[in-house]
Amino acid sequence: AVTSHMKEMTSGKNHSKPDKQAVGLNNNMEPTHYIYDPGTQTTYLRGKLLGKGGFAKCYELTDLKTNKVYAGKIISKSRLTKPHQKEKIAREIELHRHLKHKHVVCFYNFFEDEENVYIILELCSRKSLVEVLKSRKTLTEPEVRYYLRHLVLGCQHIHGQKIVHRDLKLGNMLLNENMEIKIGDFGLATRIDFDGERKTTVCGTPNYIAPEVLQKTGHSYEADVWAIGCVLYALLVGRPPFETATLKETYMRITSNKYNVPAHISNEARNLIRKCLNPHPDQRPTLDQIMQDEFLVYGYIPKVLSGACCTCAPKFP
Ligand code: ADP
Repeated sequence: AVTSHMKEMTSGKNHSKPDKQAVGLNNNMEPTHYIYDPGTQTTYLRGKLLGKGGFAKCYELTDLKTNKVYAGKIISKSRLTKPHQKEKIAREIELHRHLKHKHVVCFYNFFEDEENVYIILELCSRKSLVEVLKSRKTLTEPEVRYYLRHLVLGCQHIHGQKIVHRDLKLGNMLLNENMEIKIGDFGLATRIDFDGERKTTVCGTPNYIAPEVLQKTGHSYEADVWAIGCVLYALLVGRPPFETATLKETYMRITSNKYNVPAHISNEARNLIRKCLNPHPDQRPTLDQIMQDEFLVYGYIPKVLSGACCTCAPKFP
């Protein structure tokens, strides 16, 4: 279909047909668009819009030679006006490009032209846990164990490469067609340059921000464990642990470690949340300890999840 479409576009005969494909509009009624990477001599056909971020628009891109579909993050250079915005993209590329793991969004390639920077990523066709939670409200404990396991496995790889993600949240936990978690968006990530290094600033505002990041007292890998605790809470309870009407109030609650775990949450889950949300970073569990935690070890973890779990609670045996 893609190649016949291209022939139609170049034949010059398409004006007689009122059909939207023939006048060069795709299914979103936007002009048809090809993207060429001179480095690999690859032409991509731009497909549907997957989502918009702060700087980027993400589209389905089809490699016309292989018909393989990717997620293409397109960043308009006209929007990168301040030096720190350019630095942020450059750092995201530099940190993400060498990561290779089943539970991290695969970074295939990047290139640029006059207008845009293009990042070719593994396609996560089922969006993120934000959309899942929106339609489900809360998840069952076996599902939470399943997602948590993927998150921790991906995070172990990231930390193993001396990178702290610093913005782990439901929206950065993407899902592929097979319901596997892929950690994405390395826009706030940082490299730990020497053992024991403590970072004191973040260029941006992490969603599940840890108290030591907020207080600028020095942070590292443990800030991701804090965020994992927030993710665990949000998936089980249906809202983030420190959510309030204002950012100021939320930051006060984070600093004073004030949150409630509803009574219906199991003791194992409650204990793991408490361990991850320890105000002292050095007292939080390591990723290995989370993998060995009672919550994951003694509870049922499904091997696979059906796509139906995006909208309906599963019944486990
Ligand atoms: P920004 O860095 O500008 O915030 P994001 O990386 O958050 O941009 O991407 C914007 C949106 O594009 C995301 O919210 C998500 O909906 C979608 N998206 C990003 N990466 C992928 C992917 N690999 N597969 C599918 N959709 C994606």
